[in-house]
Amino acid sequence: MEDYKPIVGKTYSLFGKDASTEPFYRKISALTDDILALLSIPEPQALEYIQALSKDKRRMKKTAGKPPEYSALAHMLHWIDHVLVDYTPGVEQHLKTASYYKFITDKGLLSSREQYYLYMIEFELVNRIHRERFLGSNFRIALLPYCLKKSQTDCKASPDEIDYLCRGCLKSCYINQISMLLREHEVNPYIWSRISLKSLFKKLIKINGSIAVLGIACMVELVQGMRLCMKAKLPVMGIPLNANRCARWMDGFYETTVDLSALEKILN
Ligand code: SF4
Repeated sequence: MEDYKPIVGKTYSLFGKDASTEPFYRKISALTDDILALLSIPEPQALEYIQALSKDKRRMKKTAGKPPEYSALAHMLHWIDHVLVDYTPGVEQHLKTASYYKFITDKGLLSSREQYYLYMIEFELVNRIHRERFLGSNFRIALLPYCLKKSQTDCKASPDEIDYLCRGCLKSCYINQISMLLREHEVNPYIWSRISLKSLFKKLIKINGSIAVLGIACMVELVQGMRLCMKAKLPVMGIPLNANRCARWMDGFYETTVDLSALEKILN
């Protein structure tokens, strides 16, 4: 995309200090390999371990504050911090300044630095574990967030019997570009209008036998969505938005982007 340039979100940016997001994807892949070697357990068990850690926010914060030699976990957290620190520049400032009301109504907004790190490893592990089943499913659906569309345009997306479909009115719109890429890989792209996922999945399974889900969302929401799909025993893959810039996080709407090469890579 011609307008692929660094952007910063409320809490994270996959550009870090680089001009592209390629270094992030390279680092997260290498880091996941290293963690798997360190834990010396199969990927599904490593995923359970990483998920359990990320749910224990207090313990993560306390352990991250200890020196690396304090424990194996402290060593791992320091190591992860060393690799990923540039990608979460706004977490502490956001936690200090976000309104109390927002925190009560939307728990995802409370994610700590350590949780962001673990979420990054989690989506990489989920993609690795589910890839084969995802590609072998009868029907693959992608749920895209509205914040990827060009904000200044009068979007022509309209619903079919499943959800909203991009009608390709603007060449430079990210949703259009992603939709074309996904269709080439036999994934059906929809702009998610927050219809109930539970009833949508039920309906699609009834029609198609087996289904798989691809998600694109901000880091926190992506991981929450992946967990929901896994709970429903559905193969799921996905990649995060390059930065969290929608009205949920910022005081307004700011365009965001996604790494199309990284998306293509998980589908090949
Ligand atoms: S290209 Fe698709 S998502 Fe983008 S503005 Fe047009 S219809 Fe909406």
